[in-house]
This record gives sequence, C-alpha cells and structure tokens, in this order.
Amino acid sequence: MLVVMNVHATPEQIEAVAEKIRQLGYTPHVIPGATRTAIGVTGNKGPEGREQLLMMPGVEDVVRITVGYKLVSRETHSQSSVFSIAGTVVGGGFTIIAGPCSVENETMILETARFMTGLGVRLMRAGAFKPRTSPYAFQGLGEAGLAILARAKRETGIGIVTEVMDVEMADRVAEVADVLQVGTRNMQNYSLLRKLGTLRKPVLLKRGMAATVEEWLLAAEYVMAGGNRQVILCERGVRTFADHTRNTLDLSIVPVVKHLSHLPVVIDPSHGTGRAEYVPAMSRAALAAGADGLIVEVHPDPRCALSDGQQSLDFEAFRALYDSLKPLADVLKVTLR
Ligand code: PEP
Ligand code: MN
Repeated sequence: MLVVMNVHATPEQIEAVAEKIRQLGYTPHVIPGATRTAIGVTGNKGPEGREQLLMMPGVEDVVRITVGYKLVSRETHSQSSVFSIAGTVVGGGFTIIAGPCSVENETMILETARFMTGLGVRLMRAGAFKPRTSPYAFQGLGEAGLAILARAKRETGIGIVTEVMDVEMADRVAEVADVLQVGTRNMQNYSLLRKLGTLRKPVLLKRGMAATVEEWLLAAEYVMAGGNRQVILCERGVRTFADHTRNTLDLSIVPVVKHLSHLPVVIDPSHGTGRAEYVPAMSRAALAAGADGLIVEVHPDPRCALSDGQQSLDFEAFRALYDSLKPLADVLKVTLR
C-alpha cells in the first residue's frame, strides 16, 4: 500500500501515520516528494488497515501497489530518482563512470583519476575485490586496493565506485566507496543486499547475467526495504546463444525499467560487449535509449591489464568517445556529467 498525504499535511500528521503503520505491524517508508509526501507500507499481506489509515488527518488516499517491488516501483514514486554523489548527480542526465576493471597499483589509479578529473568525469570505477571466474586469476589487491582508492580520492576529489563482494567487507568498503557496486554474480546474494540496505551509501546493482527484469527489481527492493533509497541499476549484458559478443547487452531493458521504476539505470558497454572496439557504439546507443549514464572500463595500457584488457578503452579512445557523446547529448537535451 501507499499512503498519499495531502499537500498541506504537517510533519506531525506524517509521523502519526507512520506510527499507525508500525502499530499495524507493518513498516513505513516516508518518501518526500516535490509537492506532497507519500508513505510506502511494506510487510502487509493485503489492504488490512487501509480504512483506519484513510481516516487519519492529512491522508489524501491509500492506494494498493500491485507489484512485488513496491519501493522500487514507479507506482510508489512517480518522479525519477536523482542522487547527489561525490559532487555530481546520478539520474536525470547522463553520468559517466569510468576507470579500470581492477585496482592494479597506485600509479595506474592515480594516473587514471587525474586523467578523468581533467576531462570532467567525476566518478571513477575500479575493483579492489574482484569476482573472477577462475580462482587462479588475479583476485584484486583487496584492502591494499582500497587504500589506493582512498588516496586517489584524497588527491583528486574523484568519487569512487568499487565492488563489495561479501557482507564481511561491506562496512570497510563503504568507508572508501562513494558507490558500492554489486556484481552480476551477486545480484541475488540476499544477505549482502540486506546488509547494503542498512548502509547509507548508494548501491550500483548490476543485473544478474540471467535475471529477468522482475528478479532484478526485486533484488533492488531488498536494498530499499532496509531503508537505503539510493539504488542505481546497471545493465551489463545477459547470457544468450549469441557468441559474437561476451554478453548480449540488453538495451531494450532501458525503456522497460524507466516505465516500471523510478530508479536510474546505467549501461556497462564494456562487459556488455567484451570488446573495446564495440564500446563506443553501444555507449552512444545507451545515451539515445534514455539511460542515465555509463560505467565503462578504461585503462592506461589495456594490453597490460590484469583483468578485462580486451574490453578496456585506452585514454585516447575514451577521450574520443567522451567527445562524441557531447553533441549527441546536446541534440537530445540531456545533461552530460
Ligand atoms: C566489473 O565491473 O569489473 C565486473 C566484474 O562486472 P560484472 O559483475 O558485471 O561481471
Ligand atoms: Mn571488469
């Protein structure tokens, strides 16, 4: 259910409704809006309690939410969500997140952070903890990698997007990260999602490699149900019969997600194609499709990368891509960030 307060509802009336929802044994989620506040109700099986809520002062209406992903749904929050992160904004524009697949050493991270801030890119990706298919592949620098990311942030001011792989490390990663990335393999790690729901850091939730849109949005609901409203969805390609690209980048999910949810959705054209030469075309397509941004792999020397070199752009290729997005964003009247 969603309790819609009227435009003149006072903070006391809003709190009284929240308290009533708690007394009914449910959980209230206060959602401030541009003109009025709504209160999402979770934990209820049906509309029990609706009549009592309807009679309370300041209540305009109590509507049933028909989908399972209640807080994620556009039925609950008709305006698209916009998050302020590390001096930039995600949602309502086209935000670029770029950087190497992995933190490999301090030099390459500082070099990348300086290059990105020089271009005007405000968020850098780089994994300290890497979920690798083979246990013998480079697993990331772990804690040492986090320290390098913290230094890059201190020295350049760039915001950090980095992966959190498990519950045990979540608090530690959140000390450094401005955005906590959940990888495709962990999209249905419900204990991790619940943990991230308790933190007050934006979460970038990658779509599972075989997840339906409903499974993906329900995964986001786990985070939001814990009280963390800042979830960014990320399409990174799914498994299909096709083998001409590493994954099949499902750009058709962008308008679907925009229809079903108020959360921003960004595209990962790097894991989506697996090949650097295909990344620019899919990046521009993502902008044209109405996505809220990109997360793209960029490495100072892709041939020497310890992970995902084949799909990483070098600095010049990234600069060319970035420059090509500007006129397209202008035509589409989208703010490039
Ligand atoms: C990554 O971003 O480097 C990564 C491991 O992505 P995914 O979880 O989409 O495979
Ligand atoms: Mn990668």
